[in-house]
Amino acid sequence: MDKTVTDAVTEALMSGWITTGPRTKEFERQLSEYCGVKKSICLNSWTNATELFFRYWGLGPGDEVILPAYTYSATANVVVHCGAQVVLVDVDVNGLMDFSKLKAAITSKTKIIMPVDLGGLPVNYDELIRLVNEPGIKALFKGNNEMQSKLGRIMVFADAAHSIGAKKGNAMSGAFADVTGFSFHAVKNLTTGEGGALLFNLPEAFDVEEIYKALNIKSLHGQTKDAFSKTQPGAWQYDIVEAGFKCNMTDIQAAIGLVELARYESETLPKRKALAENYLKLLKDKSWAILPAFMNGDYETSYHLFMLKLKGFNEAMRNEVISEMGALKIATNVHFRPLPMLSFYEAYGLRIADYPGAYNYYANEISLPLFYDLTFEQQEFLVKSLTEIVKKIQKS
Ligand SMILES: *Cc1c(COP(=O)(O)O)cnc(C)c1O
Repeated sequence: MDKTVTDAVTEALMSGWITTGPRTKEFERQLSEYCGVKKSICLNSWTNATELFFRYWGLGPGDEVILPAYTYSATANVVVHCGAQVVLVDVDVNGLMDFSKLKAAITSKTKIIMPVDLGGLPVNYDELIRLVNEPGIKALFKGNNEMQSKLGRIMVFADAAHSIGAKKGNAMSGAFADVTGFSFHAVKNLTTGEGGALLFNLPEAFDVEEIYKALNIKSLHGQTKDAFSKTQPGAWQYDIVEAGFKCNMTDIQAAIGLVELARYESETLPKRKALAENYLKLLKDKSWAILPAFMNGDYETSYHLFMLKLKGFNEAMRNEVISEMGALKIATNVHFRPLPMLSFYEAYGLRIADYPGAYNYYANEISLPLFYDLTFEQQEFLVKSLTEIVKKIQKS
């Protein structure tokens, strides 16, 4: 955060509009434009935005949602909140949902497939959209309501919490799936402190303005008029059409988002890319380093995480590397513990033995620091330290 941000926030605070208002609407407009979609809605987190949409879509008990075994818990938690069943698919060498194992997971109860663009690297959405449109798979699908039947197939919902700015040629993350969820949490590439957005790229038959309106109402208690429209003279009357949620974005958050978005493509992304490429350069000749992919076919990452893997290392050795790096005051991290390894999801009935791809990706993964203010000098020191530590642990 810098003065441009604090100035924008101060301006929002002084404007008289601190909750959802003109800045949120403008942020939504600019986000849609950046991603090349007709409409988006900004809310207070990926988690609440996604749950709101799933409930709007009519997801509930008896339904199944397919997601990768390797992701942050939020991806699965929202499905549990709705009362639907989490169905996991194992991941490939890039930690992305393994499409070769996907068909076997699809049943007549599958309503949504939710891949995760791990570390910012998109899955192959073209392939996924083709798959859900295959006659055999479409024939299995049963819509529970008018919207689901109108789509007439399994929805592809992108967990793009990591991948704003990822591209396929000129097409942007946000325009790959039917609906895409972004996170603007503090650790993400583009932040509003806390925040999230949904981007709509549904087939022509859907009226996105209508969906936007319905989700707005649902995000504000089910109230037919938001604070902004109630300021119009004489327009105080409102109704509550359902027991809705409360997950709107504030104009203070949107003020941060507008600043961050304005410099995202021109400054943030190129800087992150340069840092990630510098890591590659520093690590490319190390025999123990398995380097992350920046491309998945034609899809380019948003350089959110630098997910390094240590060849031949097991979980205990990797943990040792992390603690030795920590002793040097270098914070490294593991993204993520696979879902079946978390108490709740183990009790839910999931077993890590069924997801060897996820376990193998996890066991020797170490995320190196990647943030805007990181310097090439710091990276050099880090890789030098890491090399020494890795060598020492390899010998012991
Ligand atoms: C951060 C994250 C989320 C949740 O985002 P919030 O905005 O914090 O709700 C979901 N999925 C993945 C993969 C994430 O990393």
